[in-house]
Amino acid sequence: MENKKIAVFPGSFDPLTIGHKSIVLRALTLFDEIVVLIGINPTKKPMFSLEQRIEWCTAAFKDYTNVKVCMFNGLTIDFCKSIGAKYIIRGLRGSNDFEYENMINHANKIMCGKDNTIETIYFITDNEYVGISSSVVREIYKHNGDISSLVPIGVNLPKKEKTFENF
Ligand code: ADP
Repeated sequence: MENKKIAVFPGSFDPLTIGHKSIVLRALTLFDEIVVLIGINPTKKPMFSLEQRIEWCTAAFKDYTNVKVCMFNGLTIDFCKSIGAKYIIRGLRGSNDFEYENMINHANKIMCGKDNTIETIYFITDNEYVGISSSVVREIYKHNGDISSLVPIGVNLPKKEKTFENF
């Protein structure tokens, strides 16, 4: 399709949650194609390997032909330019996300220059997903809790043995 509207959804997805998935599904009503871009964020040390995160994202969106999963070790805007994507999508859960996103948006605008703008479109998180983050999932998982309702079907975290230590 000529002039396909492509949006890139960058993140760590460590792991993908139902909050992330809801953003992708909402974005699909606006764009022809969404690329879930698993980035390598040098400030974050992931719990799950890149291969594992790619596998989970691919499985979670297997029924959506217009959702692609990619990884990139560089600037999101460079990836966008390389595939002709003019939009980035991000989720906003609250004021912390806003502060961070505001800063990144300015940096992206400066790097893109005036003639080559890539717009970031922000989705305010639906109430039911506000408290969900990859870090909450990791924390529950680390302590052997049940995270199955927080991650989409296809995100199968390895089962952990329950161990109770005596103190
Ligand atoms: P990053 O390392 O870039 O913050 P994340 O995987 O944590 O990557 O998040 C990717 C994007 O998804 C961010 O825009 C983040 O705000 C958004 N996001 C994370 N959790 C949720 C949620 N529960 N609802 C909506 N958006 C979310």
